[in-house]
Amino acid sequence: MQDKPVALVTGANQGIGLQIAKELVAHGFTVLVGSRNFERGEAAAKEIGPDARALQLDVTDRASIDAAAKRIRNEFGRLDVLVQNAAISNTTKLPGQSIQEYARLTRPSNVSLDEVRAVWETNVFGVLAVYQAMLPMLREAPEARIVNVSSGVGSLTMNSDPACPWRPNFGPVYPASKTALNAITLAMAIELESTGIKVNAVSPGFTKTNLNEYRGTETIEEGAAEAVRVALLGPDGPTGWFSHAKLGRLPW
Ligand code: NAP
Repeated sequence: MQDKPVALVTGANQGIGLQIAKELVAHGFTVLVGSRNFERGEAAAKEIGPDARALQLDVTDRASIDAAAKRIRNEFGRLDVLVQNAAISNTTKLPGQSIQEYARLTRPSNVSLDEVRAVWETNVFGVLAVYQAMLPMLREAPEARIVNVSSGVGSLTMNSDPACPWRPNFGPVYPASKTALNAITLAMAIELESTGIKVNAVSPGFTKTNLNEYRGTETIEEGAAEAVRVALLGPDGPTGWFSHAKLGRLPW
């Protein structure tokens, strides 16, 4: 087993995940750069430096998840931090189509169930599957942390307020997938509260990445900040929280 703590970041070949991986390396971790395309993961790991290693991991593929867990166990012998960052926002939005137009086409009354299933497969079931595969190693770590990268657009409390600016876009595809992720995060935190393993959800804010065709207003560094902070929480830090770097604790 290696001495350095090990972190796995899913979907770390680009965007916020790549930035989280860079910062965890700077904090002394060996970081496994999860990437469904191994070559893209290798390129990202090379960009970060020798303490980053590419790990083929498609969160929707059982065999890929099992192989990744086996490789971590055999090659590194430990897992201290799991950042569940991989997600997709849709599979059918046309290039250049506005978020508002896509929301109009994906209301509860007219959304394709295939579209809902595809997004939930990655954003919800993928997270649960990776959790189950990695938990035995996290339980062995001295101070394990799990960070689920969610979004404020999934907050039921905020979307219940008529003044909430993104409320008109709340729908069953991406926003509700993040609501479900929040629910699962709380369930994980409750399951693990007697163990010292902290499980929290974070919202990066509207960040300029591929996910939104680079329309976001926050930088990659701003988007990654809360996930990194929560991954490094000390023993007195909270578990079962949902938070944002500038806004602090968010309502579920
Ligand atoms: P991004 O640049 O599109 O990155 C998403 C990452 O997830 C990519 O590396 C992608 O891989 C990976 N991914 C997608 N499906 C996967 C799968 N089945 N298995 C493994 N990896 C998969 O988007 P981002 O903005 O950085 O998103 C990171 C996280 O922040 C997501 O959870 C997102 O929901 C959340 N978030 C983002 C914003 C924002 O404004 N950007 C706001 C709130 C929350 P490929 O490169 O192969 O596609």
